[in-house]
Amino acid sequence: MSLLIENLHASLEDGTPILKGVNLEIPAGEVHAIMGPNGSGKSTLSKVIAGHEAYKVTAGSVTMDGVDVLELDIDQRSRAGLFLAFQYPAEVPGVSNANFIRAALQARLPKGEELDAVAYYKNLYAKMDLLEIDRKFTARSVNEGFSGGEKKRNEILQLMMLDPTYVILDETDSGLDIDALKIVAKGVNAMRSAHRGFLLITHYQRLLDYIAPDQVHVMAAGQIVRSGGADLALELEENGYDFLKELAPA
Ligand code: ADP
Ligand code: MG
Repeated sequence: MSLLIENLHASLEDGTPILKGVNLEIPAGEVHAIMGPNGSGKSTLSKVIAGHEAYKVTAGSVTMDGVDVLELDIDQRSRAGLFLAFQYPAEVPGVSNANFIRAALQARLPKGEELDAVAYYKNLYAKMDLLEIDRKFTARSVNEGFSGGEKKRNEILQLMMLDPTYVILDETDSGLDIDALKIVAKGVNAMRSAHRGFLLITHYQRLLDYIAPDQVHVMAAGQIVRSGGADLALELEENGYDFLKELAPA
């Protein structure tokens, strides 16, 4: 059981290649981190896996427990158990947070089955309490006027409610103060299980102080160029990405 990415190549609509042969396997039960310089393709990788239409897959494969992800529409990928927390979460004016998550859960039920509203709100409030999100956020439009930190916590709330199998968090830690970071980590750690795999995209080691990764990968120029254990993140924090210069393709 794993999220398996093999030789993944993807380009912009105009043909500009961004991903140039990404190989990565995230087994269920593990947390992997991807680090790397700005512009190396980390967000593109997450968006291609989620099915963003700005990118065209030109080669390679993505499978989730053997299911061909690239064959699925975006909503099918979500229902198949994929979750992506965006680096820049969108605002959805006019749709309340509570109705948004409820609709997403309802969409996962078999036709004709109704979500139990009482159980739903009980679950929602329990998760909001854990993430220290005020109850008034249930009635507010999704992310509208939320601070950066509130948006990121809201992404984690969606993650906890949707209960996905494979989770990609794209710089969910960026822009968070230390208290908000600890709350985000608490939510993620509460969701760690033998049946769930995580891919954390992050710029900073500090997130990994709170969410210990099984493996750390470095992405540069559209490829994974180095992989190691949790100590690789510490090494990168100390020495930066200078080593990449020596790896530059001929
Ligand atoms: P990272 O998340 O590692 O900082 P991105 O995946 O956001 O990197 O971007 C990788 C490269 O692809 C960058 O040079 C970026 O400008 C370019 N890129 C990504 N998406 C688009 C897009 N939709 N339109 C134009 N350029 C893009
Ligand atoms: Mg990015």
